[in-house]
Amino acid sequence: ADDVQLDPWGSSTVSDYRKLFEEFGIEEFDEVLDEIPRPHYLMRRGVIFGHRDYRPVAKAMREGDDFAVLSGFMPTGDPHIGHKLVFDEIIWHQQQGGDAYGLIADLEAHSARGLTWDEIDEHARDYLLSLIALGFDAEDGTLYRQSQNRDLQDLAFELGGKANFSEFQAIYGFDGETNVSHMQSVVTQMADILYPQMDEPKPTVIPVGPDQDPHVRFARDLSTRMRFFKVTEAYASFEADDAERELLAAAYGALRDDVDEDEMVRCEDAADWLEAELTPDDVRDSTVKKLRAAGKEPLRPRTRFLDRNATDEAFEALIEAIDGEKRRYDEHVDAFDLSRTEADELAREVELDNEGYGFIPPSSVYHRFMTGLTGGKMSSSIPASHISLLDDPEDGYDKVKSATTGGRSTAEEQRELGGEADKCPVYELYAYLLSGDDDEFAKKVYDECVGGERLCGGCKEQAAELMREFLEEHQEKREEAEELLEDLDFSLES
Ligand code: SF4
Repeated sequence: ADDVQLDPWGSSTVSDYRKLFEEFGIEEFDEVLDEIPRPHYLMRRGVIFGHRDYRPVAKAMREGDDFAVLSGFMPTGDPHIGHKLVFDEIIWHQQQGGDAYGLIADLEAHSARGLTWDEIDEHARDYLLSLIALGFDAEDGTLYRQSQNRDLQDLAFELGGKANFSEFQAIYGFDGETNVSHMQSVVTQMADILYPQMDEPKPTVIPVGPDQDPHVRFARDLSTRMRFFKVTEAYASFEADDAERELLAAAYGALRDDVDEDEMVRCEDAADWLEAELTPDDVRDSTVKKLRAAGKEPLRPRTRFLDRNATDEAFEALIEAIDGEKRRYDEHVDAFDLSRTEADELAREVELDNEGYGFIPPSSVYHRFMTGLTGGKMSSSIPASHISLLDDPEDGYDKVKSATTGGRSTAEEQRELGGEADKCPVYELYAYLLSGDDDEFAKKVYDECVGGERLCGGCKEQAAELMREFLEEHQEKREEAEELLEDLDFSLES
């Protein structure tokens, strides 16, 4: 398929990962691999293939500074081996010293997928048991469910004040039929992503599938917008001497620069700045017109700013204001010899002093989706396509035995041409799960397959046995986790 669509509630297939780099600005994970002290095997094997802004997290890891990891689970079915990737990513970051958060997106499951609360309760428990069974330290980390976290709700409410319906339309394709709770679940999710930083800003990584990238981008945007708002406010009301005022201006200017690429945001802020003389409606409308005349499509037209009666003077005034701001930024940065990073740091300090959050834009890592055992995508709704972490170990064995492979039609051909491990769901099982940390083993399977020494019958038998063992062991650990979950008094009753 030529069109890559990232839709958090749509199909989870991304046919061409390259496009994600080119069109969405996701960066290749390979480029940061060297900066991570002891990369996880999913990183080493390219299963984690992309990231946004992971460097601050890697740096914190190297230097023993605070950082956090958070990911959420929508409890719409049984946790399966595809979800295990995210469990592993959370647990690994926790083992590297991060504050770890696992959350149950029950509001989202209810509003976006229409599950009843009873169904949600049952699945939520299963997700948490598997997360703990796989090694999540629940005493050290944080588990919560959206509907029961009051601080989260408060943050979501505040973030909602920085977002509007037109953005929801542009980012998620929401329309007049979209229910209001679904929108509320989006701001809740934004709050989830920023939650680890509520008390104190720290680099935070969100491990997700690439279909969740719109949420990450929106949260990154909102994190800066929260800061922007606070610093703007502080700037307007700051009772300070000239030197402090100047520093603040530099910081403020730096933030302005931060969102420069997004003309609509820049214009909106300039519009706020000019509010005394121009209404935002005037400014926005003529900005939209000018952008369109220049062949650019405004990224996020916001209906509340659209007004058919705007004037050219309004636009000229806006441009002047933007230029003025830019000049002022350059002057201040020069005057104080601040680097972009220093100015940014300063801005966050100012924000914190003014009782703001000082959020660091969250980072993310993206993993490949596992291919379904029957070919095509792995789907929670097609039992034969996946192995549930709750599957009877014998069923897990059988599913692997009947999986499609990248094998040739005859043994002779396979010996001659080698198998196609890159297209084989069974090889994926080895690489993503069954080899664990043992790179040598994964490589051996691969080399033997493509070299024609390995035939699919034996290969599947071996994988099926390993899967059975994995499920047996995992389910034993789930039983032990039951007690722990009770001790934690993590109530999942709604
Ligand atoms: Fe897949 Fe194994 Fe067959 Fe290779 S030998 S194609 S890895 S099942």
